[in-house]
Amino acid sequence: MADTVVKPHQKELFGQPIGLYILFLTEMWERFSYYGMRAILVLYMTASTLGDDTRGVGLGWTSKEALALYGWYTMLVYIIAIPGGMIADKLIGQKKAVLYGAIILCLGHGVLVLTDIWAFYTGLGLVIVGVGLLKPNISTMVGGLYQQGDIRRDKGFSIFYIGINLGSLLATLIVGFVVANYGWHAGFGLAGVVMVLGLINYIGGQKYLAQVGNHTEATNADDEVSYGKLYGKLLQSPKQLFITAILVTASFVGWYFMDWGYGLLFLFLAAIAALLMMIYRELETQVFKDRFIVLLLSFIMVIIFWGAFEQAGGLMNIYTDTKTDRMLFGWQVPTIMFQSLNAGFIIIFATLVASLWAKRKLKGKEASSLFKMATGIIIMGFGFLFMVFAVMEFEKSGSSSMLWLVLAYLFHTIGELCLSPVALSFITKLAPAKYASLMMGVYFASSGLGNKVAGILGESASDFGEFAIFSGIFIFTVIIGGLFILILKPLKRLTHGAEDNEHVIEAEEIEIAEN
Ligand code: GLN
Repeated sequence: MADTVVKPHQKELFGQPIGLYILFLTEMWERFSYYGMRAILVLYMTASTLGDDTRGVGLGWTSKEALALYGWYTMLVYIIAIPGGMIADKLIGQKKAVLYGAIILCLGHGVLVLTDIWAFYTGLGLVIVGVGLLKPNISTMVGGLYQQGDIRRDKGFSIFYIGINLGSLLATLIVGFVVANYGWHAGFGLAGVVMVLGLINYIGGQKYLAQVGNHTEATNADDEVSYGKLYGKLLQSPKQLFITAILVTASFVGWYFMDWGYGLLFLFLAAIAALLMMIYRELETQVFKDRFIVLLLSFIMVIIFWGAFEQAGGLMNIYTDTKTDRMLFGWQVPTIMFQSLNAGFIIIFATLVASLWAKRKLKGKEASSLFKMATGIIIMGFGFLFMVFAVMEFEKSGSSSMLWLVLAYLFHTIGELCLSPVALSFITKLAPAKYASLMMGVYFASSGLGNKVAGILGESASDFGEFAIFSGIFIFTVIIGGLFILILKPLKRLTHGAEDNEHVIEAEEIEIAEN
């Protein structure tokens, strides 16, 4: 099984283990390649096959075809994090999974430099597998840098989150420029080169990661991860088998009424639900069982959060383009620049938000992860109120101010900072050690499902109008966040004090832990 309970490395920089900065840089370059490629993907698919501008020949697809593939692609990269996490837990550990993921990503982005259509599909497939191996496991490794109860863990995740967004900010600023001047495949190639940098950085920094993410052979049968055994036991567990049968039937109904893609997705999710039920059954103590349940409940917040938040790339993007007055001192701000606001705000506010929560916690005030996540949903929800104001202004005067968008993205970002890095950290505190990466995979899969929900919601704006969608999201998210705060006490009870004794780890404690 993967050894996630590790002693922190002694060497520190700015109060954090040096390994954090190695993972920060690796993830920064990985996210650069991911978001850089993602930024040009739809544009490349819909560009003309005649190659009548400097960007070269596109695929000539309709925007409906391109958006359909885009929706599946952005969901699959995160859904595949589940098998990515399982492979790490069972076979190779997180450290090797990240290494193989990074190599596959270099190949994937490399193949996309070629202009043939087979290269396009192969490249996308490799990127999906590469992200699936790298993304959940690098996040679990960050958690492995800290001991249980180390108050620096949440802040560590916030710093790591800055790396993610630095990568995405640089990508959105640079890749568009490269494509405009040197063509589509130079843009894909740049993503590949940058991923090679990430790989070199990861390999070079191994000495700071010596104690984290290693795979150790289980010494007794209880510690062994065996998915086969769990599925085998499903056949002897009537209750779980019955629920699985219902889910599988629902998948086939989905297959019949929707299409085979959805059918396969539902089948996969039914298989994962069965696995999670069996893991729950097998957990040794009630404490582990309760923590497992609370983790799964928190994933509901994750799906709702990303389902609303991800309007950024779709509906809000279109709104910016068509209904917003973007003139600033005689210059029209390009629509794409609004996509950089989120990453920019994260870089500015990440440590501030983390420090505010840490201070609150040290003062003994409510600052549990669940509270932060619920607050995050509410704050993000209020961002949509500004979009409602924008629509009202548009309806009155034919265009709306950019200020509404800036405020919406600001609130979305503060909400994201209360939820996303916090959820990553929370998983590493609560997940059973031998399933740590799998649970991280389930988290990313939840956010992938959120992405899909966002797409469906965005599409329905053409039927219901933006006012209904934005105000609906505002009301729904505030209510859901409020409900989670209302049931905070019983939920926290289920964590059995996992976050109660977080404190500054003293040098003596580290020594005790090392002996
Ligand atoms: N922006 C974050 C990242 O790229 C969010 C990912 C997610 O959870 N969907 O890591």
